[in-house]
Amino acid sequence: MNLIRAAALSASLIASTTGLAREIDTVLVVSIDALHPDALTEAVAPTLHALMRPGHFTLQGRSVDPPMTLIAHTAMLTGLSPQASGKRDNDWQPGAPRVGHPTFLDDAKLRGFATAYYYAKPKLGYLVSAGVDEHALAPEDGVERARAFLREPGRRFVFLHISGLEYVGMRSGWLSPEYLGELSMIDLALTPLLAEVRQRGAHTLVVTSDHAGHDRLHGTSHTEDYKVPLIVLTGPEDRPLALPTAYEVTGLRGVLDELLGNIGRREPAK
Ligand SMILES: [Zn+2]
Repeated sequence: MNLIRAAALSASLIASTTGLAREIDTVLVVSIDALHPDALTEAVAPTLHALMRPGHFTLQGRSVDPPMTLIAHTAMLTGLSPQASGKRDNDWQPGAPRVGHPTFLDDAKLRGFATAYYYAKPKLGYLVSAGVDEHALAPEDGVERARAFLREPGRRFVFLHISGLEYVGMRSGWLSPEYLGELSMIDLALTPLLAEVRQRGAHTLVVTSDHAGHDRLHGTSHTEDYKVPLIVLTGPEDRPLALPTAYEVTGLRGVLDELLGNIGRREPAK
């Protein structure tokens, strides 16, 4: 254990024994579809880059197999591999059965949060579960809806899915100038939302993705397609957080457990 981590742990022990650590009452999880970790530079995405320090982050995260949008988001929200959850196809139509396993939004509901789920592709409607209070297919106004939801008082947990990069990637290539320009636009659009979360009190911000891509392709077995970033920032005070050394998208539910308190799930995270 290094000195910084030892100091952080002892600070947290002092805080917990004296009641100084405030309960986290605002959580925002942003999944930027098809975000390659290498795009998260200060020049391209200054707002997102500024979350990495003093937050916790890895640019070496990994998606599931195959690294495709709905399969990876199902793994992210349930903490289950495609094999464990049974969600191995990348499609869903309105009216078809939805996810049959609890997600981290259900966990949040059990912890007393009001929950919202905003998504940019119809098939992500699959992940609307019983613990979701408000949800919308919101490809254009997801950020605005999240801002409005977080203007209300009380404990609030928002999952926001943002698309755009996958279309530019397929048209112009992953990490192309056009792709990086699209990420700059997303970074700018997120700036007021992230600022408002940080003004709301004790909070956790998560920025991640479902998969990356290479050339003009994604969803293949190419090593680049599996790459995902994970950024976790808690405030106003930092909290000790041990990110898994080899982070996979199935690990996010456990990361949230560590920050918000384990609520005793019946299913083991895989
Ligand atoms: Zn995707």
